[in-house]
Amino acid sequence: MRAIGNFIDGRSIAGDSRRSGRVFDPNTGAQQAEVAFSTAGDVDAAVKAGLRAFPAWASLNPQRRARVMFAFKALVERDLDELAYLLATEHGKVRADARGDIQRGLEVIEFACGIPHALKGEFTEGAGPGIDVYSMRQPLGVCAGITPFNFPAMIPMWMFGIAIACGNTFVLKPSEKAPSVPVRLAELLLQAGAPAGVLNVVHGDKEAVDALLAHPDVRAVSFVGSSDIAQYIYSTGAANGKRVQAMGGAKNHGIVLPDADMEQVVRDLVGAAFGSAGERCMALPVVVPVGSKTADDLRERLVPEINRLRIGASTDPQAQYGPVITAGHRQRIEDYIRTGVDEGAELVRDGRGFTLPGHEQGFFIGPSLFDHVKRGMKSYHEEIFGPVLQIVRAESFEEALALPSEHQYGNGVAIFTRNGRAAREFARTVNVGMVGINVPIPVPVAYHSFGGWKRSAFGDTNQHGMEGVRFFTRLKTVTARWPEGDVGDQGFVMPTMR
Ligand code: NAD
Repeated sequence: MRAIGNFIDGRSIAGDSRRSGRVFDPNTGAQQAEVAFSTAGDVDAAVKAGLRAFPAWASLNPQRRARVMFAFKALVERDLDELAYLLATEHGKVRADARGDIQRGLEVIEFACGIPHALKGEFTEGAGPGIDVYSMRQPLGVCAGITPFNFPAMIPMWMFGIAIACGNTFVLKPSEKAPSVPVRLAELLLQAGAPAGVLNVVHGDKEAVDALLAHPDVRAVSFVGSSDIAQYIYSTGAANGKRVQAMGGAKNHGIVLPDADMEQVVRDLVGAAFGSAGERCMALPVVVPVGSKTADDLRERLVPEINRLRIGASTDPQAQYGPVITAGHRQRIEDYIRTGVDEGAELVRDGRGFTLPGHEQGFFIGPSLFDHVKRGMKSYHEEIFGPVLQIVRAESFEEALALPSEHQYGNGVAIFTRNGRAAREFARTVNVGMVGINVPIPVPVAYHSFGGWKRSAFGDTNQHGMEGVRFFTRLKTVTARWPEGDVGDQGFVMPTMR
């Protein structure tokens, strides 16, 4: 059995824990590796490695750190096929989607290649007589990232790409369900020229996470995962004096106005609801058609498209989506489908009980479609995170706008329409952090920033782009006086610029 260990100070290390987790191939349901769970001692070793590496790395000029990022990007691109295969057979997403996972992470690395520009400070010449004021952004020290199973490449790169380019060192605690690709990325960053200790990976569960949250030398914690854990990370990290950003779960709505291009909407919806088996925080699991005619038309067009979906092993190039991450997660999705039925929603298509011939033990589940889902239903209120699309009918634009605005989650939302004024009004007023206009999955490009509202994010700085740079640096402002001649007594009153 393959053993997956930590990566600390540039070396693979088995760790001293006797606890470990099972890593599956979701296509076959068979265990393919064993991952060692870190103790507080392992975490301390990783943080210490980061501390040792920090002074030299932080004082390297930003252009030289950027060169490491350029080299890292080239190495990841060289190994893209191998990494995508590893990711697909550990996570279950199809190969093209696995490549997309890595590619979207690389786009953040491309942004990090321009870090000298992003780190430039501000300067005011002549703020007073002989006085100049300038500000600079400096790295924090050792930063930590705790990531979910569903984007094993992209989300770690969101975090360490920016943090390390800014001059920090990093300890990554990836999901114990898909731990292999993050280790490969750390090995490649070392090969790209990052000194040992700049990027360390510790595996594990709550024990490792709690050790990071409690460690006095961890300056900042970036988290992405489910909302209850995000809130716990935010409050515990903040109580321990750390800077924290913690992204949580989602329930994204797609609003369909009567004038939308229905053919396009159906194609977009099917991809956004069922792609990656619905295991995306920017998936569109809720569709809100406005008016009963729009709803009936949409439903009629959706059913045959859903029936045509090809579910297959993640290694099947024809498959549109693969298995979910674990048997336990599949059970959770099936439980939500039962809840939806019990609550009185109409189950138009039932994906439960699906088996893929030749992969009977794999963690597959067919696509499900619900109609007449209502506010107040548990299956609507909570995140299912599976291939389940729910139709919530609205009578008016105002009612449709209120649904995502009043939902507990506020990650992403999309509106489909040809009416620019309605789209503009929607984008301006909806109480959600990321909005798509005729774009089903509005994940911002790397040089903008990613983050939801309400229970989808705790903390006030988003991921990557300039928000990421601000999160992983702190501002220092210098007021310097080089007067000509004697400036006299400064006195005891607060200095002002008169
Ligand atoms: P999760 O919350 O179970 O796990 C995330 C991380 O937290 C993992 O590294 C895990 O080991 C750790 N963890 C789990 N339980 C913990 C505990 N009790 N104490 C401390 N740490 C703990 O999430 P997941 O199932 O891996 O990922 C799916 C979730 O992530 C979904 O809710 C999805 O919406 C969300 N997600 C959000 C975003 C976003 O940017 N908003 C992006 C991707 C995924």
